[in-house]
Amino acid sequence: MPRHSLPTDSLLQVTPHGLFVPAAGLHLDARWAPGTVFVSHAHSDHCSGADRIVCTPETAALHSARRGPRDAMVMPFETPTRLGDAEVVLHSAAHCLGAAMLEVRTDSGTLVYTGDYKLRFNPFAPASRIPRCDELVMECTFGEPRYVFPPDDVLVRQLHAFVDSAFAQDATPVVLAYALGKGQEALYHLTSHGYDVVVHGAIANLCKLHVELGHPFPGPGTWTPYRRGEVGRRVLLTTPSTRKTAMVQRLPNKRICHLTGWAYHPGAHNIYKDCDMVLPLSDHADYDELVRTARESGATRIHTVHGPESFAERLRALGFAAEHLGAHPQTVSEDEFGDGVSRSTTRAQDQHSLDLQ
Ligand SMILES: [Zn+2]
Repeated sequence: MPRHSLPTDSLLQVTPHGLFVPAAGLHLDARWAPGTVFVSHAHSDHCSGADRIVCTPETAALHSARRGPRDAMVMPFETPTRLGDAEVVLHSAAHCLGAAMLEVRTDSGTLVYTGDYKLRFNPFAPASRIPRCDELVMECTFGEPRYVFPPDDVLVRQLHAFVDSAFAQDATPVVLAYALGKGQEALYHLTSHGYDVVVHGAIANLCKLHVELGHPFPGPGTWTPYRRGEVGRRVLLTTPSTRKTAMVQRLPNKRICHLTGWAYHPGAHNIYKDCDMVLPLSDHADYDELVRTARESGATRIHTVHGPESFAERLRALGFAAEHLGAHPQTVSEDEFGDGVSRSTTRAQDQHSLDLQ
């Protein structure tokens, strides 16, 4: 795990199970650990097999739907709670429904763990903000300067133009987005613009759960789960892993748009060559948001996780005390990395993994 030793006065430790905050007795997004694990959100690489988890109510519901019932201590956003020797608060991470940053306040300082996050709009989450802290543990998936994304409203307009163009050519617009998070954001942007959408079951099941949790999808467009042969003149919203299946390939005339931050990968042209458009609509912070986070947190010690090791070097060059902690011990990811793709092998250079998105 860590490529450097943590200072003895750090609020963070590393155990064989991953990152650990002793003051609160919490492992961070550990696949399994004795005791209690903080689950930042319900993507498969963050779900935990631990006996007891701490998370938001929404993440508890999504986690339960995906992994079965768990002893969950739920904490709504912005509700300080005593845990061990610390006060713990969860803040919106705006990554997907329920996604949270963890703030641990102790007598010897404050630690923040971002989990996966973005600073941009998410229709299913309160606006995220950068919490002030002494020690920051931050994800850095897009920690290279090439990954600076256009404003979301520009990208959403491009998505709408793509759909209009496909319909104008009597083609089925196919939008690829993974099941939790991006799938619902895509559906929100499609139905609110008036498109009727057919939704792949893996995405639709989680859409239903969003509705049950109080997050309906806006009209005037409608959405319905996919049934074979019944797409009609509607948008097909499906997961990247179905791109080469009969469901997509047998559509007589189609245009494919993939939503992923890896659109700016240097090999994207080749990786996504059978897509007509790749839009960097991402649920991760882009490079500028990452640097802003480091700066505005006020942290005097920064640990980077996921993403390129070079991001910590870049932060050091900007004057921050930053070290890379390597990947979490999670092995399976589904967000920007595609279903069932190992994060540890999915650095930006790994075209095979990217191709599986
Ligand atoms: Zn995620």
